[in-house]
Amino acid sequence: MPHALPPLPYPYDALEPTIDELTMRLHHDKHHEGYVAALNAALHGTRWAERPVEDVLCDLGSLPEDKRTLVRNNGGGHLNHSLFWASMAPDFRGLPAGPLGDAIDVTFGSVRELRRQVSDAGMGRFGSGWAWLVHDGAGLAVTSTANQDSPLMRGVTPLLGVDVWEHAYYLRYQHRRADYLEAWWNVVDWQQVAARYATATSRNRDAGGDHA
Ligand code: MN
Repeated sequence: MPHALPPLPYPYDALEPTIDELTMRLHHDKHHEGYVAALNAALHGTRWAERPVEDVLCDLGSLPEDKRTLVRNNGGGHLNHSLFWASMAPDFRGLPAGPLGDAIDVTFGSVRELRRQVSDAGMGRFGSGWAWLVHDGAGLAVTSTANQDSPLMRGVTPLLGVDVWEHAYYLRYQHRRADYLEAWWNVVDWQQVAARYATATSRNRDAGGDHA
């Protein structure tokens, strides 16, 4: 099977107390594993089975109609969660610095304001979905998506995403999504976000600085 569940880059209990061990076990081993299994089942034996999930999500229209929703939901789930685990770290590694820090200051005025806008996007997402910091080809922006949709499906690059499905926070925070969103910033690994920003901006430079 071409798509595989990536191991967590830290132990299940490493993000305590922000994210509890049982939530991490269920979220990674059951929810994410389920997306991977369903994605592989949907693409098995097709010419899309060996393609990177990013490519498939950007080209859903080429899939047979009866597979599109399955791949959208489960391919998006696989990609979003892979990014999510890799965006967190147990030891706070400092606020954004370098080019990402500069871009945040220019676009939002401060990290505090960026955090507020992402958290607001997460609070404003009715039902299940994600809130994102993205690079849209011109610069940084905040957005949200429903269900497991990826910003890539709109042609923008996700840099940081927070899962606001209830399965991401309900055991520890119950209905208090705002508390989860506030605490979540304690485990964000800005060094990873900065690396994604560097990749996105160099790709954009290579493309001549337009919205490629
Ligand atoms: Mn999730």
